[in-house]
Amino acid sequence: MDKVSQNKIVRLSKSCIGSAEKNAVMGVLDRGYLGMGAEVQNFEEALTSYFGRPVACVGTGTAALQLALEAIGVGNGDEVLVPSLTYVASFQSISATGAMPVACDINANSLLIDINDAEKRITNKTVAIMPVHYSGAVGELDALYKLAHKYNLRVIEDAAHAFGSSYKGVRVGGFGDIACFSFDGIKNITSGEGGCVVTKDITVLSRVRDARLLGVEKDTEKRYSNQRSWEFEVSAQGWRYHMSNVMAAIGLEQLKRMDELSEVRRSRAKLYDSLLKNQAKIKLLPNDYDQIVPHIYVVQIKGLKGQGEIQEYFIKHGIQTGVHYQPNHLLDYYKKKKGLPLPVTECAANEILTLPLHPEITEQDVKVICSLLINYCGK
Ligand SMILES: *Cc1c(COP(=O)(O)O)cnc(C)c1O
Repeated sequence: MDKVSQNKIVRLSKSCIGSAEKNAVMGVLDRGYLGMGAEVQNFEEALTSYFGRPVACVGTGTAALQLALEAIGVGNGDEVLVPSLTYVASFQSISATGAMPVACDINANSLLIDINDAEKRITNKTVAIMPVHYSGAVGELDALYKLAHKYNLRVIEDAAHAFGSSYKGVRVGGFGDIACFSFDGIKNITSGEGGCVVTKDITVLSRVRDARLLGVEKDTEKRYSNQRSWEFEVSAQGWRYHMSNVMAAIGLEQLKRMDELSEVRRSRAKLYDSLLKNQAKIKLLPNDYDQIVPHIYVVQIKGLKGQGEIQEYFIKHGIQTGVHYQPNHLLDYYKKKKGLPLPVTECAANEILTLPLHPEITEQDVKVICSLLINYCGK
């Protein structure tokens, strides 16, 4: 009962690709138009109806964040509030614009940005706040928007983990200022790599649309009508951050499977919760899996001093685990900026452990993982 099954490795996360995605890619290859065209337009339209707001697709979630920041005018000398406990992509997207990521502490239970702590770090250079929807949860978004309003900050939600999640019955991305999603290989849905910006601000959206194609104005419209821009104007810095038809073809099929894929994630997370609750040393995230679609399943193990030993223990039993994340304010590139301490983040960083979660995890896998974890914590 303590080996998952002979020779099987339970992966921490994985893409879940079926014949529909494979056929869609073959279709693009057969048609011979691999760049940005009809499939990207179709994927954007499908996402637009999914969110009820306009969408621009780009090459990665990180590109979505960077372009969204640039579209609201973030650049040199500006400061952007962001929780330290996030993927380095959040930080890099901010520093890519020339702005300074200001690392904020987190709430000890939810591991989401601590809004009171963030407020203390606001200066006259602060222009935006980037909450990170860690694990797929969004926390007290109303309070965060209230803070943003009070200080006249733009909000860019790093919703890379939260595709499909809802807040007060409304889909993340379907309300608020700007939300950015990732479709990289292991996210709730994938387009191979990819990402998107969702906002009702059409000025921001049209800047993102131009900036993803080297700043060539209105190039998107031309490509969607199968034309090229031989004569064009460029009036701002752009990047080559567009999405390809191959990626969009995968994304379109994954979007159609969203209910199926999210149902497994939700039910496995609920099973983890039910098997691990009431364990003295194990602290669960306060997530409502009917509201959110979990991207990762994280526990905090009280008293754990780093994850080396426990990760090795799980690997011996054929199970991969993860650490989401190393705090960014301790990385060489970002630790130069000394600010207020981040005690909750630094404590959590030693105690968090991510257990396997993806659409191919079985109930039996979850049961084995939980009994191994309980055994480990009991020793
Ligand atoms: C995945 C991820 C990103 C970046 O997305 P990519 O598509 O990999 O560039 C940003 N933030 C968080 C929290 C992520 O997990």
